Amino acid sequence: MKLYLDPGHGGQDPGAQGNGLDEKDLTLDISLKIRKILQDEYEGIVIKMSRTGDTTKSLGERTSEANAWGADFFMAIHINSDSRIAQGYEDYIHSSLSDSSKTAKYRDIIHAEVIKVNQLKNRGKKKANFHVLRESSMPAMLSENGFIDNTHDAGLLKQASWLQKVAEGHVNGIAKAFNLKRKDNIPAPSPSPSPAPGTLYKVIGGSFKSKDHADERVALLHTKGFESFVHTTNISGETWYRVQAGAFSNRDNADNLINDLKKAGINDAFLIAE
Ligand SMILES: [Zn+2]
Repeated sequence: MKLYLDPGHGGQDPGAQGNGLDEKDLTLDISLKIRKILQDEYEGIVIKMSRTGDTTKSLGERTSEANAWGADFFMAIHINSDSRIAQGYEDYIHSSLSDSSKTAKYRDIIHAEVIKVNQLKNRGKKKANFHVLRESSMPAMLSENGFIDNTHDAGLLKQASWLQKVAEGHVNGIAKAFNLKRKDNIPAPSPSPSPAPGTLYKVIGGSFKSKDHADERVALLHTKGFESFVHTTNISGETWYRVQAGAFSNRDNADNLINDLKKAGINDAFLIAE
């Protein structure tokens, strides 16, 4: 999937201004964050940006570049301004498109993901005859991430952590809309790697096919100062006699006992989690 990512304005064109902020800086910041997350966490995506620094580039140059490159999606990032009273998030697709168009479907998905995380008033899904939406030959969307001249929105726009959240919202939407696959080495955010509550770590000081050998091991451990007992278990239809020397809900405690057993010469000690 080829994504053309367009941070609005730049260089001699600061875009909207207010509360000590320039739109061009914020759109670049959000876009660079979007690119980084997509590149770090997803595969099957190639990204071209209209600019990666504070440079001047016309709207015509942006759409020509995306068209010539053969982008699959054009994502423009902007910040709004109005009368200081207006606030919130809105996004646009071209006014000629129907609500059932492919572009509208991509927009629906991205809109929902951005709104989940951006803490802004939702001004809705809109259509307009903007240059980048009209002159791009692939599905195109433009997001307006808050109002720079509104005190509430500007308060958020000044926070790097908020800009990161907005970037993540766009990434989640793009990933969902285009079925991007997460890289294998990046764990999914939700499931925690820690064991389920109630996990018991059993320290086994040897496991034997013979009950007599297991009893001998219990006696040996006793002489070395470890108390244990024989526990019968069935593995693949065979009976084993396990010498259990301890059971802990805390993994560190279990590891400590294993180390003590090995120091005492019980090299076949091992841990099982239940
Ligand atoms: Zn703008």
